[in-house]
Amino acid sequence: MIEESLHAVQQRMADAMARAGRVDTAILVAVTKNHPVSAIEEISGLGVTHVGENRVQEAKEKQMLYKGPRLTWHLIGHLQVNKVRQAVPMFDLIHSVDSRKLLDEIEKVAAKHDKVQDILLQVNIAREESKSGMSVEEFPDIRDYAKTLPHVRVRGMMCIAPFFDDPEEARPIFRVAHALYEDMKRYFEEGQIQYLSMGMTHDFEVALEEGANIVRVGTAIFGERVYY
Ligand SMILES: *Cc1c(COP(=O)(O)O)cnc(C)c1O
Repeated sequence: MIEESLHAVQQRMADAMARAGRVDTAILVAVTKNHPVSAIEEISGLGVTHVGENRVQEAKEKQMLYKGPRLTWHLIGHLQVNKVRQAVPMFDLIHSVDSRKLLDEIEKVAAKHDKVQDILLQVNIAREESKSGMSVEEFPDIRDYAKTLPHVRVRGMMCIAPFFDDPEEARPIFRVAHALYEDMKRYFEEGQIQYLSMGMTHDFEVALEEGANIVRVGTAIFGERVYY
């Protein structure tokens, strides 16, 4: 069941990349929030090595229980300052950094762990009130500030498009995100900015056509999440 859905998603990803004439690769982050650790073990048994979680506490419990090959753990949900202490040692890439305050806390905790924390800057391109992420106006200031922190390494950008019935409507937003991402490269060392994380179950094909190289997909692989 999960196997078939996974293969369908991978095929759709490949088709979208081909449509866009892309010859690079895109990472599939399997979003396992609200699914048990057995789902993580199953997906890792199918060769997926990137998993995404939304909440630090939930991820922590699963990381303790998880048995299987080494995974790359992505924190994709909003991160509260008071959760940074737990999050830094747990995650390879934090997608949802959107303020100086959060950067300061990550710097402090990462220094303590002697770690350089890879992060993405989350930008709220569509200015949705309900979504986290910095505004496009705040972006240059936060980007430049992040550069000064020795234990934080910005690797790119993340964005979440609003939900549209027709995912085509998200295309202009992804296009703006891609332009910002490309522009961002010149402010950092060569090769440092590598990831543009955008696209979910509903819109990942459009995101890939517009240059995403990380997509975060849950429902299309695991089915609907059950919230208790
Ligand atoms: C839940 C979530 C996803 C995955 O959503 P699906 O629609 O189930 O694919 C991706 N990104 C973020 C930030 C999420 O919170």
